[in-house]
Amino acid sequence: MSNRREVQVYMNDRKKVRLMAEHALSNYEWTVKELGVEYLPDAIGQEGGHSVPRYVTTTNGSGSGIVTKEIAMCEKLGVPIRKRCYVEHIIRTEEGEVLGLEVREGYRFPDAKSGKTKFIRATKGVVLCYGGFSADVTFRMHQDPKLDATLDTTNQPGATSELWRETAAIGCLQIQADWIQCGPWGNPKEKGMGIGWQFNQTAAAEYGVWVNTDGKRFVNELANRKVRADAIMVEQQAGRQCWALCNEPNVGPLKKQRPGFLERMLEQKIVEKYDTLEDLAKGTKIPYENLKATIDAFNEAVKSKNDPQLGRYINNDQVPMVDGPWYAGLCQPKVHHCMGGLLTDETCRVLDVRTDKPIKNLFAAGEATGGVHGAVRLGSVAILDCLVFGRIAGQQVAKN
Ligand SMILES: Cc1cc2nc3c(=O)[nH]c(=O)nc-3n(C[C@H](O)[C@H](O)[C@H](O)COP(=O)(O)OP(=O)(O)OC[C@H]3O[C@@H](n4cnc5c(N)ncnc54)[C@H](O)[C@@H]3O)c2cc1C
Repeated sequence: MSNRREVQVYMNDRKKVRLMAEHALSNYEWTVKELGVEYLPDAIGQEGGHSVPRYVTTTNGSGSGIVTKEIAMCEKLGVPIRKRCYVEHIIRTEEGEVLGLEVREGYRFPDAKSGKTKFIRATKGVVLCYGGFSADVTFRMHQDPKLDATLDTTNQPGATSELWRETAAIGCLQIQADWIQCGPWGNPKEKGMGIGWQFNQTAAAEYGVWVNTDGKRFVNELANRKVRADAIMVEQQAGRQCWALCNEPNVGPLKKQRPGFLERMLEQKIVEKYDTLEDLAKGTKIPYENLKATIDAFNEAVKSKNDPQLGRYINNDQVPMVDGPWYAGLCQPKVHHCMGGLLTDETCRVLDVRTDKPIKNLFAAGEATGGVHGAVRLGSVAILDCLVFGRIAGQQVAKN
């Protein structure tokens, strides 16, 4: 345990983390004031690893709430956006400078031979922001063999590795590519990210409990994602399922933040509803006595705002789990985020694998880069990373 903790603490690039933290507020304000992004009012969330509630959510509950506004701003400013344009190669000269890209225009995913080859000369430089490879089973298994095809991913099917391979081939320095995060709050009854995670996290982790088939809590429900995903995998290896549980008064914040979502989860049978705790125990095949004892002990923790068993944070508006109805959803880790990637300097220039020096005209930002999030990315910090370093990269390339 102590080893794992030391590894997690010391893997981040502290200077970059500080830079990102110090630019968090100004970037949030930039999205609101300059782009017109809308966030849910009065809804500060708490994701795994956060010591207190600290994240904001777009009103549509998705990163598209930011990206669509960015696209609209590009259109307003006359910045062309090429869709269906697949980057096949990055052109780097013998002298080490990046000149541009070889692309396929009119590309149709996933046909690698579709579209027409075209060369694009970069007048100022290339900013790489090709994301992670969570959907690429072969490549993720090269890095971490346990992430095989039995594990679903929250990512879109285009989260593939070809540009990870291409940047390796042209001599970019890559780090920590085997640190791949699984989202512990996935639900196995739906594909991808889906909606069930909102119950497992926003209701059960923040206001309820996670228990195993024996009815015992097995992890701090608000521990970081790695601790929780690993704990679920250990339970599963021992043949136990992991359940996220909540009761009516404690699903209030989820209902307020995401009206209609819980009803959808119930309709789709992603989450089950039971009148009593006994019914829930029967439905989930958890021994009732064990479950009752767990809930009773947890309620004492809620009352005293102190969880001696697992040391979790107790929310101010959390109430003891007494009144029904009761809700249960299964937890299944799904491959979610790549912490590793291209090593950049503080102005987002990609470093050369042979020299550790910046490659001329090549910049990168976002999930394609590594070192910022250490061994386990905190929930809500990826978009911040993209905003902060994406804007720095943009400003730098404009000056090039
Ligand atoms: C379901 C889900 C929910 C999330 N929720 C949150 C959240 O609430 N808060 C948070 O901070 N983070 C969240 N994240 C993480 C965050 O959204 C990502 O880390 C972030 O969007 C990465 O942005 P990016 O621009 O670096 O890469 P991406 O958004 O992945 O974009 C990269 C793009 O490049 C394209 N691409 C890849 N290869 C090629 C190629 N060869 N040619 C052309 N195009 C290519 C990809 O198809 C993709 O469209 C979430 C992630 C997922 C999957």
